[in-house]
Amino acid sequence: MLPDPQDTIVALSSAPGPGGRAIVRLSGLSAARVAGSVFTAVDAIKTGERRSYSGSCRLAGVSAMLPAELYVWPAPRTYTGQEMAELHVVSCPPLVDLLVSALLTAGARAAQPGEFTLRAFLAGKLDLTRVEAVLGVIEAGSRDELQVALAQLAGGVARPLHELRNDLLNLLADVEAGLDFAEEDVQFVGQTDLLNRLSKGLALVTLLGKQIDQRAVGDRPYRVVLAGRPNAGKSSLFNALGGRALVSTRPGTTRDYLVCTLEAGGARIELVDTAGWQAADGDIANQALTLGREQADRADLVLLCIGAGRGQTPEEASYLQQTNPPVLAVATKCDAGDPLPGLIATSSKTRTGLTELKIMLAERARAHARPALAPSLGRCRHHVDACLQGLRRSHHAVLFQEPPEILALELRAALDQLGEMVGAVYTDDLLDRIFSRFCIGK
Ligand code: GDP
Repeated sequence: MLPDPQDTIVALSSAPGPGGRAIVRLSGLSAARVAGSVFTAVDAIKTGERRSYSGSCRLAGVSAMLPAELYVWPAPRTYTGQEMAELHVVSCPPLVDLLVSALLTAGARAAQPGEFTLRAFLAGKLDLTRVEAVLGVIEAGSRDELQVALAQLAGGVARPLHELRNDLLNLLADVEAGLDFAEEDVQFVGQTDLLNRLSKGLALVTLLGKQIDQRAVGDRPYRVVLAGRPNAGKSSLFNALGGRALVSTRPGTTRDYLVCTLEAGGARIELVDTAGWQAADGDIANQALTLGREQADRADLVLLCIGAGRGQTPEEASYLQQTNPPVLAVATKCDAGDPLPGLIATSSKTRTGLTELKIMLAERARAHARPALAPSLGRCRHHVDACLQGLRRSHHAVLFQEPPEILALELRAALDQLGEMVGAVYTDDLLDRIFSRFCIGK
């Protein structure tokens, strides 16, 4: 059940805890009146005027007056589209609690998570993709995520989708108008025009699907797989870089694969230690080798370990030519011999070259990373597919001159999906799911 949007709601909207300033926000028909009932200022509060007041709050059980500023924003030019008020006081948690209880006693109701943004949505101030962009901004864990969420908030995805939706609605209106005049054989829109507009829509939604797929890649760490002959020093390098693998002088000890995650230079790197290549005896070893190759195929980068003091084998030389995934050679055990020229020289024993290696991996990871997916794009994925189907069928119907009723049906199906993407069509359940992820006060 959605909370009643007519209530005047209140919540602390700044970060909780001690600090310079706490912002207690109200929204609803009596926002300014409720705020004014605990606040005293020299000037009388005018609810219809957009302005701030300096004054103080009297709180039960506190002898001194609490200095405060009151900001009043009349409807409808506010975030929620309703009258809003904010009380700014020093951020002392017990005092803020007392202030919020005073406002509750004065007639406000405690806001639920995301309820301010829900009101903005219900007032038509934000569509669902932008609502989720607000959430994306709040939850952004990296600069890239913040960039994506901000672009989405600025209407990056929403604008072209709204344009397409409007165009298809007009198209549907023309097709349906034609249905009413079917007997007179009046056509409101020609076949070429229909095909052009549908092709434009198909291109836009296909592109959106591709962007979603590509951006999803940004959610996972950069995957680096260690490869090389048995005893090349892979497990030791894995351990030295932060993982924990069993090291043995017996060739073929790393039978399975091990994974660890490193944080380096702002990048998340997943390091995988696999079995070596050398043909080993027994089934387990063979399985491990196959597994190692599979892991290497799924890598973003293969780090080929070549022990110092020896040359490249033909197999290593040909492996280094591979581009998908790319292979980078690194010289290991450099304390015990001369590395091949041109390779990053490392030693797990003396830790030589490990910092350089991490920096280089972080650079590659950053270059590879694409901005992470803002939440609404993930939600949109299945609507994109369904919308594409509707558009393709519409295109087919026009191309093969099927009855206009079929075209209207398919267009409506595509429009429903677009509507769900931007939140023009929504269910309480969907809103509950989205807004429950917000924190209180937003
Ligand atoms: P893997 O089979 O490629 O995983 O190789 P390991 O990491 O198990 O190492 C094989 C052998 O080389 C072990 O005896 C290690 O102690 C030795 N080794 C590994 N790294 C170094 C190093 O940096 N310097 C020296 N001197 N020996 C190393």
